[in-house]
Amino acid sequence: MPRNAESTAFRSALEVIRGVEPRVADAIGAELADQRESLKLIASENYASPATLLAMGNWFSDKYAEGTIGRRFYAGCQNVDTVEALAAEHARELFGASHAYVQPHSGIDANLVAFWAILADRVEAPALQRAQARHVNDLTEADWFALRRELGNQRMLGMSLDAGGHLTHGFRPNISGKMFDQRSYGTDPVTGLVDYDRVAEAAREFRPLVLVAGYSAYPRKINFRIMREIADSVGATFMVDMAHFAGLVAGKVFAGDFDPVPHAHIVTSTTHKSLRGPRGGLVLCGPELADQVDRGCPMVLGGPLPHVMAAKAVALAEARRPDFAGYARQIVDNAQALAEGLLRRGARLVTGGTDNHLVLIDVTGYGLTGRQAEQALLDSGIVTNRNAVPQDPNGAWYTSGIRIGTPALTTRGLGTAEMDGTAELIHTVLSQTSAGVGPDGTASKAKYVLDPAVADKVSRQASELLSGFPLYPDVELG
Ligand code: PLP
Repeated sequence: MPRNAESTAFRSALEVIRGVEPRVADAIGAELADQRESLKLIASENYASPATLLAMGNWFSDKYAEGTIGRRFYAGCQNVDTVEALAAEHARELFGASHAYVQPHSGIDANLVAFWAILADRVEAPALQRAQARHVNDLTEADWFALRRELGNQRMLGMSLDAGGHLTHGFRPNISGKMFDQRSYGTDPVTGLVDYDRVAEAAREFRPLVLVAGYSAYPRKINFRIMREIADSVGATFMVDMAHFAGLVAGKVFAGDFDPVPHAHIVTSTTHKSLRGPRGGLVLCGPELADQVDRGCPMVLGGPLPHVMAAKAVALAEARRPDFAGYARQIVDNAQALAEGLLRRGARLVTGGTDNHLVLIDVTGYGLTGRQAEQALLDSGIVTNRNAVPQDPNGAWYTSGIRIGTPALTTRGLGTAEMDGTAELIHTVLSQTSAGVGPDGTASKAKYVLDPAVADKVSRQASELLSGFPLYPDVELG
């Protein structure tokens, strides 16, 4: 491929868009410029390859394809079948799963597919069986009432939000918290680690239908073999949401007891975080749940997005290449180097370090809330997000933590040598920021004071650090 093929492709696309709505073309160009300039440490973001991005901008976007491969409710889906089958095959091979469903539009959707598959599989629900056997219009009020009674009040045990769990694991702002009676397990107050004996105790007391493992902000590995034993001991279905760390599973950094696929009954994921694909989700499972999982659309999903499935096929093919394992290893090496750099400078880290792609800084050590720290870092060209820490005194809005992750910077090519410089920049901003006061003179959880000269200097240093690692080096928009 000529080196300038990517430039030509993106330039031509923008030219065509500019001919219709120039402001959209400008915004797309500005987004690339912003991403190039900022030190992106958001743990859930990455930079997809040009091939993955380009696979999304085409005629597949025009196609309806409800149903599954070879069994569609629309005619003319043979090419959609090709890309969906390719994406599913790459997912199965990459993760060693017997079944892969690649239609979910996002991680939340993948979880909904999994929850409904588990309910349909596990709950003794004659009304559900009736409902699935008949057309929805033929169901009576009495059928619906029985269905709600049979499915309601099932139990889910998942990781608590402040320990790093995700909203979709049974918390009220998400439908899962309304579908399930939820209880959560936290982490040890001293070590910050999952205490498997406590999880087992909670499972014995609560007897959940579903035990969920997976997280958005826990900086350590989880032993899925032990979690499966706990699930088995109480007859629960064991589900793992690997949205955040799928890239580490794909790259075999999480292997053996730490690879969820051989241990869980069902695994869900996003495709756009450490896995470095397009925005989307997927579900992996064994043959027992496959039929139920394949009912995802129209059970809880809108029509599949064939253009995104095409991009999933491309990204999953990339993740099967030998160099992806090196990328995954580097993500963790970088996170550990970043953690060490921060610890050396006196930062307080939840669990004292990391063994995955993310680091959680307890910014109360700097006298700040997460919200103040997030904004001060942003002023200084460093993009992170605030996050609760275990037993967070500042609640879920202001929080006491800053979550940082290395998948994006690692894609850009930064290595452990650059992580010390990154830690220095973060520490400089946090140690030079102080809490501000509100209009009534009392301490504010949102306002902060940071000398703009410090913010400017750090921004310049961040740009210098990044200048050696150009983002999309072969894309010149002119
Ligand atoms: N599951 C986990 C563990 C996540 O961290 C996230 C996103 O942050 C999701 C699910 C939801 O993913 P999406 O935003 O693609 O719906």
